[in-house]
Amino acid sequence: MLKAVFDYESNRAKAYTVYNSEKNKKHSVIYKIDKNKWTCDCKWNTLKETYCSHILEVINMERKKKISILAKKLGIN
Ligand SMILES: [Zn+2]
Repeated sequence: MLKAVFDYESNRAKAYTVYNSEKNKKHSVIYKIDKNKWTCDCKWNTLKETYCSHILEVINMERKKKISILAKKLGIN
């Protein structure tokens, strides 16, 4: 199972670490704000142009976060 953790944010990038509990590995995922581009340090991302599972996990986490913020604003819990 993959687990995405937010590391830090600067005015140019957002950084995350994605943990793979089965393989006991972790990957660094970085979102470059100025270029609107996602990168990951895994092999898949270097070889292919498509998003790897780590990047998708971070996008998914961010999406869930936004939904819960919106739900709080609307008073739905
Ligand atoms: Zn990756």
